[in-house]
Amino acid sequence: MNKQLVLNTLAAGLLSLMTVGGALAQSAKPAQELNLYSARHYQTDELLYAGFTKQTGIKINRIEASDNALIERLKSEGAKSPADVILLVDAARLWRAEKDGMFQPIQSAFIDERIPENLRAKADGGGNTWVGYSTRARVIVYNKARVKPENVTTYEKLADPINKGQVCTRSGSHPYMLSLVGAMIDRRGEAATEAWAKGMVANQARAPRGGDTDQIKAVAAGECGVALTNSYYLVRLMRSTKPEDQALMAKVGFLWPNQATSGTHINIAGGGIAKNAPHPEAAKKFLEYLATDAAQAYFADGNNEWPAVVSVKVENPGLKQLGAFKVEDVSVAAMGRNQIAAQKILDRARFK
Ligand code: FE
Repeated sequence: MNKQLVLNTLAAGLLSLMTVGGALAQSAKPAQELNLYSARHYQTDELLYAGFTKQTGIKINRIEASDNALIERLKSEGAKSPADVILLVDAARLWRAEKDGMFQPIQSAFIDERIPENLRAKADGGGNTWVGYSTRARVIVYNKARVKPENVTTYEKLADPINKGQVCTRSGSHPYMLSLVGAMIDRRGEAATEAWAKGMVANQARAPRGGDTDQIKAVAAGECGVALTNSYYLVRLMRSTKPEDQALMAKVGFLWPNQATSGTHINIAGGGIAKNAPHPEAAKKFLEYLATDAAQAYFADGNNEWPAVVSVKVENPGLKQLGAFKVEDVSVAAMGRNQIAAQKILDRARFK
């Protein structure tokens, strides 16, 4: 900044101080607040956010929308965006937001100590660009009458000719697919992953469509023999008291993929500090709060997920029913990085 600019800025600052001076004089300190842009919305949110306000006195203003709607809003707001913290779902989306310049790094020894290294995207100059706060697994569901579980024990086996005409997935351009494929690229390389993608397409029971719950329903209906779903959709149906959901789930088996090999693919919900956050200190406090025991439990349990902090346990009957499993050892940053290569591979394989 040059001298004249500094003077102008100071003058403008003084002027605005004079205008609001009366208001400021009345309260001991300016009200602290935090603008949260979140793609998550669950029943436990009230407890989660009230806990933060109680601890810090910082009021949370929430903007809640789908991941895509939030990203569009942030783009249109640009440098004037009031966003302090951005919470998104899936490493592929978080990475995309990073590439679009939406985050600034967060430096926090507390976060580094609490959140496992593979669930954070480290920033070049130290700290993290974004941080995972809960984990979900990409599991295999199959029709018990149509498919032998031993034929679908791995992601790789879904592409084996033995499963011809059985496999259903959601779109190949959805972040959940891109992250899964991105992780496979990291683990097995591009050539093996492309061969797998082609095998998947050859085995499709129908053109990819719908969300994860639609895949589970299609498996139950026998339209598909086997499908992939995020664990929380499965848990939601497992915990449902509706007779139609219970009848549906009676037809569906589930298994943890790749238990004898690389482990089951996991992903995250997470977030970071917005690039132009008007309240960066409050943003840092909030992201640290999300890594505390109480907040971790609310955050994960609200969507039937696992806390990112391994020592935190949630009392969730659905997760208990799923049991423990071996987790794939791939970092969320690598999944994010690989998503462009993943999309190219899926396009070449004509995975729609
Ligand atoms: Fe989802």
